[in-house]
Amino acid sequence: MPDQQLKSWIEVAPDSDFSIHNIPFGIYSDNNVKHHICSAIGEYIIDLFELESADLLDMNRSVLEEQYLNSFIELGKTETNRVRQRIIELLSSADSILKTDKAFFNKVFKKQSDVKMLMPVRIGDYTDFYSSIDHATNVGTMFRDPANALLPNWKHLPVGYHGRASSICVSGHSFHRPKGQQKPADSDNPVFGPSKLLDIELETAFIIGKKTEMGDNVSTGDADNYIFGMVLFNDWSARDIQTWEYVPLGPFLSKNFASTVSPWIVTLEALEPFRMKGYEQVPQLLPYLQYTGEKNIDIKLEVFLKPKDGKENLIIKSNYKYMYYTMEQQLAHHTVNGCNINVGDMMASGTLSGPEPHEFGSMLELTWRGTKPLKLNDGSERKFVNDNDSIIIKGHCEKNGMRVGFGECAATLLPAK
Ligand code: MN
Repeated sequence: MPDQQLKSWIEVAPDSDFSIHNIPFGIYSDNNVKHHICSAIGEYIIDLFELESADLLDMNRSVLEEQYLNSFIELGKTETNRVRQRIIELLSSADSILKTDKAFFNKVFKKQSDVKMLMPVRIGDYTDFYSSIDHATNVGTMFRDPANALLPNWKHLPVGYHGRASSICVSGHSFHRPKGQQKPADSDNPVFGPSKLLDIELETAFIIGKKTEMGDNVSTGDADNYIFGMVLFNDWSARDIQTWEYVPLGPFLSKNFASTVSPWIVTLEALEPFRMKGYEQVPQLLPYLQYTGEKNIDIKLEVFLKPKDGKENLIIKSNYKYMYYTMEQQLAHHTVNGCNINVGDMMASGTLSGPEPHEFGSMLELTWRGTKPLKLNDGSERKFVNDNDSIIIKGHCEKNGMRVGFGECAATLLPAK
């Protein structure tokens, strides 16, 4: 059990995502540092390369100045968990050298607001699942048949597809509205132009922490040893392009123009106290997808829409617990055919919708295909995302006074080029 009484000697606001129970990993840059691995506490980042300059982490320092976390993650969970525990110890012990040596403190700790967070991992392959039952039901109801919203395979396997890694960007970026083919309802022929139905998908993603060889399978029971941690994820989607292109092979250009991830990887170990019971899975799944224990996670998720020069509007409140399939099942399914996985691969949850309308994880569902526009606090309306709108996803877990969060996953949509 985690020590709920654990306290850092650095002041941490009660609503901070970065308590001593978190200690996530990321990569930062500033005027003096090209890229160093860092962690976070309260409003600070902790430069692990500088920390190791005083031999405080007892590890190979060169790994800590790489551009991505991949080599660090490849050291294995025994080592990365040891480093995480060591940081917790340094932040909680009353006689820490960091506390007494002010010059050293200033080299190691920097205000988060003064640094730029970079893409945390070099993503090899990216997979997107479709594992929220409310999302799949809503989409099936809108586009197919309300009486048979879920396709026959849905309750037997975690549906997914292979996406594109090259256009996944770290929080804080902007991108242009994509152009492509769309087929207007009143025409037999497609037209070309900027997407008119640009949407978001509220998701999380997990990052692979241990590779497999081709032919290997990862069981649900062993899956957690292969998952390093989680990030927030926005799977931007052009619905008009998607509707025209997706049959029969699934999404293509409607998804691969941009996706956004949050910069901090919250470790699976930090999320462990927030595990909870998953859905009752009926009909019974094939043996390779069955699992035991509490494998869902209570992660509170929020989405804000911020017009240019405007205020943030809270448009979605959802939760990771609405996943019908767990990460462990997704990974078992992904590898059951012998597909190999690599450190840094990213596997996204699929849109996270809950049962209530304010919990729907996309504009498509929130506005029910644009038929019920959202009212913003400046009086304007949205059916989908407008040019120059920013979308900000936030997420955190909270229990018994312990708070573990992800920070922000934010991006701005620019007009089409
Ligand atoms: Mn998606």
